[in-house]
Amino acid sequence: MSKLIVANWKMNGSLTLAHDYAWALTQHLEEKPIPHTLVVCPPVAYTSFMVGRLVGASIAIGAQDCSTHKKGAYTGEISCEILKDIGCTYVLIGHSECRQNHQETEETLAAKMTLAYETGLIPIYCIGETQTERDAGKTKDILAQHLSFIDQKPLIIAYEPVWAIGTGRIPQDSEIQEAVLFIHDRVSRATVLYGGSVTAKNAGAILSLPGVDGVLVGGASLNPHEFWHIVTAV
Ligand code: PEP
Repeated sequence: MSKLIVANWKMNGSLTLAHDYAWALTQHLEEKPIPHTLVVCPPVAYTSFMVGRLVGASIAIGAQDCSTHKKGAYTGEISCEILKDIGCTYVLIGHSECRQNHQETEETLAAKMTLAYETGLIPIYCIGETQTERDAGKTKDILAQHLSFIDQKPLIIAYEPVWAIGTGRIPQDSEIQEAVLFIHDRVSRATVLYGGSVTAKNAGAILSLPGVDGVLVGGASLNPHEFWHIVTAV
């Protein structure tokens, strides 16, 4: 069954990695075609380079964030139009690191979603509870809140428990399943990914869970061969 598998490099990498990564993935794909959709989100500075290297390969490029503004005097920001222009197909919106570091509000995120859709980018909307919220039994409330201002259109949603991101800790299979099925129930026709400490070791089990349509991978996606193991885990 076809899955959506997304690599998020965060603020890591180099031109050398971009070059080696594109080469390694295209080699792997030539040797073993796969039914899945692959997306790589490098730092935006490497986007054009990777797009050029991946011509003809079925790997899409995504951005890790976008501006809430269409264009204009917003120094340091990158608009959806520019992302589209440099070859991005997808954009992550609401990643917990952006929510925390940039104090993103629901209005900010809704504006980004609207601009992404208007521009023709495919947003991957990230939601998830913190450890404190989980301990207070509020996981579903938080997911519902993060979904509350999103239209009922076909949407890619990444369930990423904040406490599982970059920590090596993941929820139990039954907990992942419960959360993703809750999201499916709330947003019809959504593609629901799981993210948070996915590795080559646990990817097969996670990707086999009912309701999990793919994974969003941070740290383990930085090595193209480990990423390939994740891609071929189902
Ligand atoms: C992420 O960046 O979205 C992520 C899930 O990171 P990691 O896989 O490193 O936990």
